[in-house]
Amino acid sequence: MSHSILSALGLADVNSGTYLGHGEWSKTSDAGTLQPVNPASGEVIASVHASSAADYALIVERAQAAFKVWRTTPAPRRGEAVRLCGEALRRHKDALGSLVALEMGKIKPEGDGEVQEMIDIADFAVGQSRMMYGATMHSERPGHRMYDQYHPLGLVGIISAFNFPVAVWAWNAMLATIAGDICIWKPSPKTPLSAIATMKICNEALQAGGFPDLFFLFNDAGTELSQAFVDDKRIPLISFTGSTRVGRMVGERVAKRMGRSLLELGGNNAIILDETADLKLAIPGIVFGAVGTAGQRCTTTRRLFVHESIFDNVLDTLVKAYQQVEGKIGDPTLATTLMGPLNSPEAVQAYLAAIEKAKAAGGTVRTGGKALADRKGNFVLPTIVTGIANAHEVVQTETFAPILYVMPFKTLDEAIDMQNDVPQGLSSSIFTNNLRAAEQFLSAAGSDCGIANVNIGTSGAEIGGAFGGEKETGGGRESGSDAWKVYMRRQTNTINYSDALPLAQGIKFDL
Ligand code: NAD
Repeated sequence: MSHSILSALGLADVNSGTYLGHGEWSKTSDAGTLQPVNPASGEVIASVHASSAADYALIVERAQAAFKVWRTTPAPRRGEAVRLCGEALRRHKDALGSLVALEMGKIKPEGDGEVQEMIDIADFAVGQSRMMYGATMHSERPGHRMYDQYHPLGLVGIISAFNFPVAVWAWNAMLATIAGDICIWKPSPKTPLSAIATMKICNEALQAGGFPDLFFLFNDAGTELSQAFVDDKRIPLISFTGSTRVGRMVGERVAKRMGRSLLELGGNNAIILDETADLKLAIPGIVFGAVGTAGQRCTTTRRLFVHESIFDNVLDTLVKAYQQVEGKIGDPTLATTLMGPLNSPEAVQAYLAAIEKAKAAGGTVRTGGKALADRKGNFVLPTIVTGIANAHEVVQTETFAPILYVMPFKTLDEAIDMQNDVPQGLSSSIFTNNLRAAEQFLSAAGSDCGIANVNIGTSGAEIGGAFGGEKETGGGRESGSDAWKVYMRRQTNTINYSDALPLAQGIKFDL
């Protein structure tokens, strides 16, 4: 199975994890090896040579040279490069979606969906390439004109997490490319193959279209090169997606060198169900949000607040729905599977430890709560826990696994307070038919998250909106809306077309 997926993408003999530009893959073999594992079986899929310091030095040198050309290429022409990448991804969607399922462990429709997000952001970026508008301001001085414009920023460093091994790169790279930047990517060591395949697809499309090198790739066997990348003054923007623990360090180090960082970190997302909620919408929204990708999305639903008048009914319905999912846990590459494995044995240990902590704090496991130790792979049962307070440390922490804490509430004020009372601030939603409740939830006194939804769950954002969150989620925004601006530098221009030079504060030099 894994051989046919790799062959379909031209990766049967893959061994290098470093794209150096000029159509060259590095021959380095002494900088460590990455061995991505199929999380459904525990088998090593391939061995990939990691990058050396010399590889990294060459990549940055070539990226700097590429930037000098790309920054003056007209933006709509830059859009054409992205269009070709989107077309190539369309052609390889099935194969790349299968590789994502194999290597990361998400189910095949989610793997395909991730590639579709790459295609969608490419389409979005093509249009955006003609719409990178600046404002024109009225000058307070006669005979002057003032406006702002956006210039390319330079090299953009992208560090990505294992759970979205390809889409996160595309959200950044497609916009950075139309902005006139050159991208250097350091993917998760757990998913190097998906990154290599993406580079091959996009770089071959660029070469065929007569475009220069725009995308570079290196893989790090440890963290030394990644830290040098974060500290590298030649890279004005580091876009980091990953845990709050690592992201905090990245943000601090980039700030120390006065660079710019875009941080997309952990979430602890909640859904509120008030007494008017339409359960036909809410139940699938909750199950998809909490169980989808086996709870390994940054936007996974981790907390559920249910009005006390419907609490028992909602809980019973959810437990039944979870038990149906239990029968469809398995190999993520099979069409019949609804939930795949966790990505690693460490993730299974973190899942079990969280459940033990919840039980020790008086929580009750209503369904699930176990690893499927009788089979190969990192399979666990989707889990619902009740009887634990929102303030408890285990509820306040993002455990990257399918555990849902369900809590009752009496008033909407109380539910909104609990929903906001966590360190993270990514995604949130309310299911209600009450207009006042919906508007209160969306108001300045409502959800404090970067994403707030009504009658839709917390996961599955569209690329057209700006994506990201507040507080310990890092404050970054990427993908749609005006997120393109972070990849550019803003310049304010004032032009004097009069024959006088009015000085500020009316000061006159007697010259
Ligand atoms: P992680 O923090 O372990 O790793 C993320 C990336 O950081 C990897 O590429 C890793 O190799 C790299 N890294 C590790 N140490 C580093 C260092 N010292 N210097 C530089 N880079 C270093 O995260 P993960 O386990 O891969 O991903 C899961 C986490 O990512 C979850 O917390 C999830 O919520 C978060 N996430 C957030 C978003 C979002 O958009 N907000 C999206 C996806 C995932």
